[in-house]
Amino acid sequence: MTFSQILGHDRQKDILRRAIDSGRLAHAYLFEGPEGVGKRLMALALARAVMCKDGTGCGVCSACRKVDHNNHPDLHLLEPDGKTIKIEQVRSIQKELSFRPLEAPKKICLIDSADRMNQAAGNALLKTLEEPSGEALLILLTAHPESVLSTIRSRCQRLPFARLPQGMLKGVLLEQLGVDETQGHILAALSEGSFKKALGKDRDLYLERRREILKALTALSPRSVLPIFELAQSLADEKERLPDILDIIQAFYRDLLLYQHGRAESDLVNIDLADKIRRIAPRENTATLLRKLEAIAASRRQLDRNVNRQLAMEVLILRLAA
Ligand SMILES: [Zn+2]
Repeated sequence: MTFSQILGHDRQKDILRRAIDSGRLAHAYLFEGPEGVGKRLMALALARAVMCKDGTGCGVCSACRKVDHNNHPDLHLLEPDGKTIKIEQVRSIQKELSFRPLEAPKKICLIDSADRMNQAAGNALLKTLEEPSGEALLILLTAHPESVLSTIRSRCQRLPFARLPQGMLKGVLLEQLGVDETQGHILAALSEGSFKKALGKDRDLYLERRREILKALTALSPRSVLPIFELAQSLADEKERLPDILDIIQAFYRDLLLYQHGRAESDLVNIDLADKIRRIAPRENTATLLRKLEAIAASRRQLDRNVNRQLAMEVLILRLAA
């Protein structure tokens, strides 16, 4: 991976490229921004550019190839072990960093999900950040910078990453996945600028499963309770995908709201369901739609608090069917 192969983030590439060229790399960076937009790819591109024999990240020299195959002796990766990054993990990296680099000009340590360092691990890492050796480069990645110890944040050069623009994401999806215009539009809109989401396992969720869920949801009637509980059960069974399913449902009611306020159909997320939206819109008004959006937000808060999933979904679907 070179900088030029990474989609978007031109300003970040420019900052890093100039820092390398002028020999003014910070000793620690904090790449912060949403999940799946390319922070880790950028960190690996930076590692390759620093370690490459000709300094470009050429992709063919032995150093570049080792970075790509994740077996460069001077490149270390630190990730959560289970839920957190533990102090023993930080200690073992610190030991590595205390040696001189073997092959590259610098030792590089990439710390993924840096917000998941527990207090002890964070404090241990602080030592390394306070006494930079000049031969070590730390790259911390996080989607939740507010959860990274402030003392760590303040000792890193922070580089914010934004979501990828929807149009850019759609272009790549059309080109690389061979999806049609409509599918590209829906995937780009629902993945909220996260390349990983649009390309990953969620693709079916956002295309076929979305249509099934919305079909079941819009067929409900408050007078027949059984289908309501069946739908609630089937959603509760999806566990990890539930937050994404709530995104899908939310986007649908938002579409209805936008449609009612005269927004063009091409601005909606569910452009393949325009018929359905036209048919259902007269049954709702701004107040009922806002109540449903609020019900979705409430169920999200309940899931965050680990309320019984089944119960949370039953309450939600009852309110949506009203
Ligand atoms: Zn190279």
